[in-house]
Amino acid sequence: MSKLNPWGSEVITDYDKLFKEFGLERIPEEFVKKLKFRLFERGLVIAHRDFDKVLARIEKKQPFINMTGIATSGKMHFGHKIDVDLFVFFKRCGAKNYFGIADIDAYVSRPDDKIPDLATAKKYAIENLAHALALGLDPKDVYAQSRQTSRYFEFSHELSKKITENTYRAIYGQIDLGKISAVLLQIADIIHPQLKGFAGVMPSVTGIGLEQDPHARITRDVARKLPYGLNLPSFIYFKHQGGLQKGTKMSSSEPLSAIFLSDKPEDAEYKIKRKTFSGGRNTPEEQKQLGGQPDICKVYEMYLMHYPDTKKDEDIFKRCTSGKLMCKDCKQHCAKFVKDFLVDHQKKFAKTENIARGIILG
Ligand code: SF4
Repeated sequence: MSKLNPWGSEVITDYDKLFKEFGLERIPEEFVKKLKFRLFERGLVIAHRDFDKVLARIEKKQPFINMTGIATSGKMHFGHKIDVDLFVFFKRCGAKNYFGIADIDAYVSRPDDKIPDLATAKKYAIENLAHALALGLDPKDVYAQSRQTSRYFEFSHELSKKITENTYRAIYGQIDLGKISAVLLQIADIIHPQLKGFAGVMPSVTGIGLEQDPHARITRDVARKLPYGLNLPSFIYFKHQGGLQKGTKMSSSEPLSAIFLSDKPEDAEYKIKRKTFSGGRNTPEEQKQLGGQPDICKVYEMYLMHYPDTKKDEDIFKRCTSGKLMCKDCKQHCAKFVKDFLVDHQKKFAKTENIARGIILG
């Protein structure tokens, strides 16, 4: 049985093997057609557990819970944007919304050389939340773990009795007190909206990367055992944006692997033009003859994940594969798109920082 490490940085390559092993279902075409959202249309949301019942609620215009969050363990980059984009999309579908800022989780589950104290996790929490607000998150939908209600903390301890040591070891393969405490908080984050005093019992959806599936499995196991008649939480799984270099993950600890939302626009331009792996051929003549390779191109990945207009994204793909687009021009265009995005985003960020500080520190 494969072991997924939700705190690791491994790049997942064999999706089908993991889907089969862990009982995940691929997103069917029918979902894509019904939802009409670019992250589904472009194959970036790849699998689900039990999402059918959430979709049925969306179609009947009935409420459902939209729950996700971020662990505040570093600077925010473009790869994190997908969490916020999905959350904002489900909100538009009529959800009851819970976006958790996991500051305690970030501190207890990360090594001291990364997050030495809670104050550091809260510093990142303010910065991360300000970015998420600038990306379109509504402050009314946000809570910080460290400022949650007493019922939330009571619940995060209550649920611990429903997990045996064998189950925990089978899912995570290791016992580490900080990580156990982070897991209990994560389960509480996903389930607590169904408790009395919050939204109440109803289907819920949480979007996660595939490496987070251990949390999904343990959460559903606990939900089955709790005495509240809970609806089993549903999950959808998205692809992570890769690093700018070949075979890497976009990571906060590798400055050149990522475009950070706080990068100076000209630094982002430099990274796209000089440090990003392209799927171009050896010479322009070869490229005209054979076409480029967008499937392995990190410049194209930026368009695929973030370009708002699907038709224009498809046009870049077609012009690349037919040899009509040269990498130099394509990089130039991508760098301008990213620069313009950052200029606009950073103007919004200047206004959201104080709101974020108020939510995290009170
Ligand atoms: Fe990538 Fe653009 Fe070159 Fe195609 S033309 S390989 S999408 S950089």
